[in-house]
Amino acid sequence: MVTPRKNPQRPAIQRKSVLPLVGVIIAVLLCGGIGFAAAQGLLPDTQAARSSSANSSAAESSAAKESSDASSAEEAADKQQAQSEAQLDASQQSSPEATSLEQAPSEQTPSDEAASSTEGNTQPESTPASSELAWRDTDFAVDPARPAGSTSDNGRKVVYITIDDGPSARTPEVLDILDKYNAKATFFVVGADPSNYHYIKEAYDRGHTIGLHTMTHDYAAVYASTDAYYADLNQIGQVVKDQIGYVPCFIRFPGGSSNGVSADYCAGIMSELVNSVQAQGYQYYDWNVSTGDGAVHTAEELVGYVKESGLDTNIVMLCHDSETKQSTVEALPQIIEYYQGLGYSFEAIDRNTWVPHHGVAN
Ligand SMILES: [Zn+2]
Repeated sequence: MVTPRKNPQRPAIQRKSVLPLVGVIIAVLLCGGIGFAAAQGLLPDTQAARSSSANSSAAESSAAKESSDASSAEEAADKQQAQSEAQLDASQQSSPEATSLEQAPSEQTPSDEAASSTEGNTQPESTPASSELAWRDTDFAVDPARPAGSTSDNGRKVVYITIDDGPSARTPEVLDILDKYNAKATFFVVGADPSNYHYIKEAYDRGHTIGLHTMTHDYAAVYASTDAYYADLNQIGQVVKDQIGYVPCFIRFPGGSSNGVSADYCAGIMSELVNSVQAQGYQYYDWNVSTGDGAVHTAEELVGYVKESGLDTNIVMLCHDSETKQSTVEALPQIIEYYQGLGYSFEAIDRNTWVPHHGVAN
């Protein structure tokens, strides 16, 4: 099991201790179908987390935000999204720390400009030869006998851009920007649109890491039970395997491990999942810097959020890839130039990358 390094500048990243064993067992039983009302009586920690989510504290603001973390594919949720984004905006104004640490982003914007297509672009010179990347095919594959991730950073100034919710029609634009700056990134992908699946392979072939996010991004389904979670994870794993030949060990929970919305569907599920995914050879990556692009913001605002964040040596930065995220595409060059000007390089996550873990709230 990986636990984060101790760093006074990262108080919100430190994991809470897991529930006592009896709590976990109870939670598992509850996820199997026992009523949630019983959970409120039996799991005081969880109840406390849920109750406090009604407050506007920075830590719990993530719970409210997560309620809007519907899939980028779920356009039907736009109305709810607008409400949640208003909540998010309010909490970001009042809790700047939450934007960089425990913000659990919403993932839609209400309108969309048609994404310009860059299909047909030839691969730029920064694309590595496939023979130089072949080692990843076995090294990144999930293996229960081989834990992934590091508890300490590598001491170098590195930004690991992590891009959730793609591939989308905007993925080619993102890939071209990354190539322009010779930057590598990590895509935590979803199964929203089969017509975009080929971008998973394209991103991988261009030197980026592929991780698993979720097949459906539907919280009610994904977090209905541990079995439901793994059914979803296995589905997106198969999608990725069809593209790159293996199931990768890198994952990102919908909403991050600190999400509180999962408590609406299964009390204690995150407390169990953070351990069980690692026991199965996966490693979950949260983040220590967020662009804030889970909500509707201008590119200038996104760049501003990043510049307000800390400058730790290893930065795992959250952003999103969907048709609605034009401002992210606009902000990305400025963000990359900002960090490159400070001496950072941009690398893709690998098995040795430092792992930021949030505190579990459910
Ligand atoms: Zn997401």
